[in-house]
Amino acid sequence: MVKTYGLIHEKRARGKEKKKNHVYHHSSAQKSISSGRQAVNFSFDTIHGMKLKEVEYKIPSREERKARRSEFQGSKNKEGMRSKFLKMLAAEHAQELKDLLGMTDADIALMAEGKSVNGYNVHHKLPIHGGGKNEFSNFILTPLYPHDQWHHDVIDPQICNLSAKGGKILLPWTDAMIYDPKQYGFTKNNKKVKPNYVSRVNPEKYPKIYKPEHIADANLRKRELEKFSSQQKNVNRKLVSTVVSQRLSSTR
Ligand SMILES: [Zn+2]
Repeated sequence: MVKTYGLIHEKRARGKEKKKNHVYHHSSAQKSISSGRQAVNFSFDTIHGMKLKEVEYKIPSREERKARRSEFQGSKNKEGMRSKFLKMLAAEHAQELKDLLGMTDADIALMAEGKSVNGYNVHHKLPIHGGGKNEFSNFILTPLYPHDQWHHDVIDPQICNLSAKGGKILLPWTDAMIYDPKQYGFTKNNKKVKPNYVSRVNPEKYPKIYKPEHIADANLRKRELEKFSSQQKNVNRKLVSTVVSQRLSSTR
């Protein structure tokens, strides 16, 4: 089964054509949201430890988004919020980083300098694109695989249906600032469920460090990251390429 997707902001086909290709099936008992135009339904209410929460997704002006992104990324003259967040975690949550993510002392030393650890991302729970701010409480440090599923499988398909100003959507949400791999997977009522879609994110392109039984194993994690560093450029390029065409494997 092959399916082609466009960019986040690219409008998908509507009407009959859309119904035929749409991977989000309707079911009345499922967690769902109506943006006013098109409902997106999910068969699960937790994805990789993040509960689906209904929030107001208000799209700021282009200038404002740009300003917030540079505030996050920082520049030569001004430290970014990502760097500050990583430093804070290294200083105040080193043990959790080790226990939850299997981070090494070298990883934590890197973070103490405000630098990212390979294979991890600082995610905005409410994206800047949806009005999210650069506050520690809006950040979570996460491996890339669950992160990309949050975006490509949950957030993006809903954003496609929003008006230019925004609207209500379901966002993966937690109060945690560090991803907890023990919460792995798609769950509903604390039981694992199969998602009602075929993921747009190919697990083969990621290290297996997101698996709870693997993530705290420092040696395995290191081997996985080594594999990953050689293909990271390709993965990044793939994720931002104009059209992501994937041969989709069956749901895990
Ligand atoms: Zn993100």
